[in-house]
Amino acid sequence: MDYIYDDQNIFAKILRGEIPNTTVYENEHALAFKDINPAAPVHVLVIPKGAYVSLDHFARDASPAEQVGFLQAVAEVCRLSDVEEGFRAISNTRTHGVQDVPHYHMHIIGGKQLGRMMPH
Ligand code: 5GP
Repeated sequence: MDYIYDDQNIFAKILRGEIPNTTVYENEHALAFKDINPAAPVHVLVIPKGAYVSLDHFARDASPAEQVGFLQAVAEVCRLSDVEEGFRAISNTRTHGVQDVPHYHMHIIGGKQLGRMMPH
């Protein structure tokens, strides 16, 4: 699979400081900031600083240090947010997954009781 990164996407602009964001946590490899249109009281987006379009791209090509740095940012977001009762982590991917922004991001959503994602 070819992953083609568009450096004009909105999260690339946030990483370059061209668009403001409300930062929750940042380290060498990842940035976490509040979603502009929150779906719940806690809605944070965690993104790698590298040019990866999706979870599968990041999982395939990111270095171990980038992957560890990203997951450390997820851990810090959870520590800093009101998610002791739980949360949902979502990475929408490409067309079927309804991904709007083509820079890999993980949504951390919580702070209230969420509905089931899938019927069972
Ligand atoms: P996706 O549909 O790609 O999984 O999610 C993209 C998310 O990015 C959406 O939840 C949307 O609200 C958020 N978003 C889009 N543009 C901006 C922006 O400029 N700033 C912030 N903080 N969030 C954004």
